Amino acid sequence: MSGWSIGKHRVQVDVREPFLTIFVDEEKTRENEIPTHELGDFPLKIGKRGVLLRRVRNLDVARSELWIDGVKVPPSEEPIPQRKPKKDTVCEVHPGGRGGYRDPGAAADAKLACGICRVPLCDSCVAVDGVRCKACFETASTAMVKAERALRIKGPLLGVALGLLLFIFGLALDSMRMAGAGLAAIALVGVRVGIGYAKERREAKNRLPP
Ligand SMILES: [Zn+2]
Ligand SMILES: [Zn+2]
Repeated sequence: MSGWSIGKHRVQVDVREPFLTIFVDEEKTRENEIPTHELGDFPLKIGKRGVLLRRVRNLDVARSELWIDGVKVPPSEEPIPQRKPKKDTVCEVHPGGRGGYRDPGAAADAKLACGICRVPLCDSCVAVDGVRCKACFETASTAMVKAERALRIKGPLLGVALGLLLFIFGLALDSMRMAGAGLAAIALVGVRVGIGYAKERREAKNRLPP
């Protein structure tokens, strides 16, 4: 199940109505508190860290985001392990890179290995989630933006496809009623997308930065 790995913790949100069920590791938190349709920011405690669960409109459905220190954390299908680096390794992605140090003694000790690509990292080169290197975090962020976009148009696209099907069948069967219903369905999708988009814009404008 998709979720977020924050340090050694895993956060998951079950959106079955009427309330969100938020799991931190296996434990439920803020149970029966947040209605699934409610938008807004909900602070959570993950280990020692404060994070923000943000519910935002995605045209006609609500979507979950997880923010830490003003950064949106990309989710992952599987938990990302908090890996230990090999003994006596130095950070490999530090500005200057491996071998970029004139004095090997000056290299920062690796405190962690990226949970995705296993590159050894010092504290300052770990991404905000505490498990990935910044490059892997960026890659996941790009994928997240793409997935969000795909999700956005999936619902309306399906509506338009069905409407179109009705319209074509209506014409083929010489049923103006069916064809008309198809057109009406397409128009309805258009109206709903328009309203959803307008609401989305207004809410985004009124939202405070996390
Ligand atoms: Zn570093
Ligand atoms: Zn990595």
